[in-house]
Amino acid sequence: MSFSEKTKEIYQAQLNDIEAKGIFKQERLIHSSQAADIEVEFPEGSDLKTVINMCSNNYLGLSSHPDVVKAAHDGLDSRGYGMSSVRFICGTQDIHNELEHKVTEFLGTEDTILFPSCMDANTGVFEAILTEEDIMISDRLVHASIIDGIRLSPAQHDTFKHSNMDHLEKKLQLHVDKRLKVVITDGVFSMDGDTAKLDQMADLCEKYDAMLFVDDSHSSGFIGKTGRGTHEKCGVMGRVDIITTTFGKALGGASGGCVSGRREIVEMCRQKARPYLFSNTIAPVVVSGVLRVLDILSQSTERRDKLEKNTEYWRQGLTEAGFVLKEGDTPIVPVMLFNAKLAQDFSRDLYTEGIYAIGFFFPVVPNGQARIRTQISAGHEMHHLEKALAAFKKVGEKHDILGKTKQEIIAQYGL
Ligand SMILES: *Cc1c(COP(=O)(O)O)cnc(C)c1O
Repeated sequence: MSFSEKTKEIYQAQLNDIEAKGIFKQERLIHSSQAADIEVEFPEGSDLKTVINMCSNNYLGLSSHPDVVKAAHDGLDSRGYGMSSVRFICGTQDIHNELEHKVTEFLGTEDTILFPSCMDANTGVFEAILTEEDIMISDRLVHASIIDGIRLSPAQHDTFKHSNMDHLEKKLQLHVDKRLKVVITDGVFSMDGDTAKLDQMADLCEKYDAMLFVDDSHSSGFIGKTGRGTHEKCGVMGRVDIITTTFGKALGGASGGCVSGRREIVEMCRQKARPYLFSNTIAPVVVSGVLRVLDILSQSTERRDKLEKNTEYWRQGLTEAGFVLKEGDTPIVPVMLFNAKLAQDFSRDLYTEGIYAIGFFFPVVPNGQARIRTQISAGHEMHHLEKALAAFKKVGEKHDILGKTKQEIIAQYGL
């Protein structure tokens, strides 16, 4: 046997260490489909409880929408369950091409290539399009999957301070002699809910002859007047060279992702991106579901409009109740608690009140910035939001933090 006692002990020690630090991730079992109301078993073995979900990426409430489910069924019936192939061997159906065209149209780009996930899109794209002569300049708070993509690329790498345009310009000047330059950012940042300054970034990129890369996973489908994403919100449609996004959040929530943008970039990915070449085609059932999602979004902005209204109500309600929020206008609304244990206790008390919202603390967010990250959905009705708000107030009162400033909360609970 090669898995010796010694090997086992090495792993057990690391797992014990994670547990001792209080950062062991415990999954809560959901027994229903993804929606505003979910049935949860927590802790494992306890009775099921129906709670309001305030922390999913189901921004448009489409994850279990009957039309999307039906389209997925139809796709299953007409194109089968699995492709058992990568795209370039025998894994490209008509609907895969159709989805690529529809995404291109929706995002207002030149071309699109599907990936098994946005994580795969991000890990594949930089290696496919850059060499040692090139430079990647990324915001310091980009998503983990982008960081992995940067690691896998042979190109040189530098960073700029989060959303700091002066610092970005300095870095562009520093690297002015590199062959190709790519400025890399998230569109909406997932932990704080703030939006990248894409208008200024596009200007800088044009001034210094750099490409602009935006990961719009937390934007596609609902940010901007017609939900195209942060490029629409910031008025730079057509000026972002590379957009990556996921179908695993607002766009149905199943799985899959893509690279969309300049025709040559997409073609380079088709020829060279390893997660595209060496990982299986997105299942037809998922492709059919996403096609239906894009139809729904193209017909009306009703869902993203409702999401915007819900978000306004939620931000205003929490602010009036006296919580410290991260500033912003996206459906990601972090309620700042600063102390990690307070965030855990707060989350547990919310659960008792029938509200499902998870505490985030180091290492997911910086030390001393623990929070409950709430996420609003078009699937929330007013009664959900009212109940959730009442619960937040009750739990906030219990912990005596309503109306307190950041400094006061830290003085009370420590970091
Ligand atoms: C969720 C997320 C991803 C990963 O998307 P998957 O399709 O689930 O792999 C990538 N980038 C960002 C910014 C994300 O938020």
